[in-house]
Amino acid sequence: MYDITVVGAGPIGSHLARKFAEQGHEVLLLEKGKVGKPLKGTGHVSKDIFDHVPEKDKFVEKEIHGAVVHNNGSSFSFGRDRHTSYVLDRVEFDRYMAKRARKVGADFRRERFIDMKTKKGKVTVKTDSEEYETKLLAGCDGPLSDVRVAAELSKPELFLHGIFTNQIEVGPIQQNHVEVFLDTSEGFFGWKVPRKESFEYGLAVELGKDSRTYLEDFAKKEGFNISQVYSGMIPMLPPEKVTKNRVFLCGDAAGQTKPFSGGGLIYGLTAAEIAAETVDPEKPTTLEQYEEGWREELMGEIKTGNRIRKLYGLPSFLRYPFLWLGKHRSKHAHMDRPKSLLGYKK
Ligand SMILES: Cc1cc2nc3c(=O)[nH]c(=O)nc-3n(C[C@H](O)[C@H](O)[C@H](O)COP(=O)(O)OP(=O)(O)OC[C@H]3O[C@@H](n4cnc5c(N)ncnc54)[C@H](O)[C@@H]3O)c2cc1C
Repeated sequence: MYDITVVGAGPIGSHLARKFAEQGHEVLLLEKGKVGKPLKGTGHVSKDIFDHVPEKDKFVEKEIHGAVVHNNGSSFSFGRDRHTSYVLDRVEFDRYMAKRARKVGADFRRERFIDMKTKKGKVTVKTDSEEYETKLLAGCDGPLSDVRVAAELSKPELFLHGIFTNQIEVGPIQQNHVEVFLDTSEGFFGWKVPRKESFEYGLAVELGKDSRTYLEDFAKKEGFNISQVYSGMIPMLPPEKVTKNRVFLCGDAAGQTKPFSGGGLIYGLTAAEIAAETVDPEKPTTLEQYEEGWREELMGEIKTGNRIRKLYGLPSFLRYPFLWLGKHRSKHAHMDRPKSLLGYKK
């Protein structure tokens, strides 16, 4: 019997699997597809990423110095004088994370999780080819989480649809700031992110809206070509509970993302670490400590981030004073901690 079965070898599942395996637990890591494929996101993260994983050139594509936010003809610069963040090669990053988990003994299997049953102090996990017994089951299987469905846990409150394309440039990219376009989407924003040899252009819209048409309008305005398109769901606002019996969710499956940017890597990695610190496979009641711990760490920031997200839906003239204020308060602000804009210290 495994101590813990982790479904999904995305970055959060791999991190969680590694953390438990490092503690000497028997870990099964299930992945239905090819690690890192299809491309799942931009990979724009704060410097804090290296509080969670070792610094490696192989997956860092670009160092970023701040952002420029465009609002109906006006532009606001944030943090351009400092090195604030990185753009990662997400395929390389996801592969690296999965390799690290395997290296410390997580039993990686290319199988699709299908269903589970909790009975007599264990969970029986059914995949497309085997059945396993495990003391705990962790759903790190992304926004549409099959584990969440099987465990009858609620889904996050809101889902956006993100879509992006890469425009290859001749020669290395000099621009080292990201751009945010508040008028390209309703209720969210568009972005232009410099990579090593290309610019990524993308946007997110509420589910049900035609993201492709928004991207085409954006392409006309900014003069880029749409070649290959990548897309994915961005879950936001975690449900009231992400734990039940011997099951818990982590990462996108739990909606642990930043509502004002859609970024999920740092919050998901943080939650995975809290799970590894608090949860004991021999004592499933410790799942309550995980539930309390990650909420204490992240929910305040998620709520503040959601208030910021709501400002994107305002008419541009009403956004203007908030942008002005944000710019003037942003000197010591941290991109993962929107409460820092309000003067809160960690
Ligand atoms: C357009 C877009 C842009 C983004 N940009 C950023 C950004 O700049 N910065 C940032 O921090 N975040 C960004 N994100 C969010 C980020 O991609 C996610 O938060 C992150 O991928 C979450 O990792 P995860 O491991 O929880 O889930 P995922 O990366 O989705 O991994 C889940 C894994 O589970 C596997 N799986 C699913 N179902 C099963 C099953 N039944 N059985 C077995 N395996 C299964 C999947 O194949 C996948 O490998 C963006 C997202 C999108 C859509």
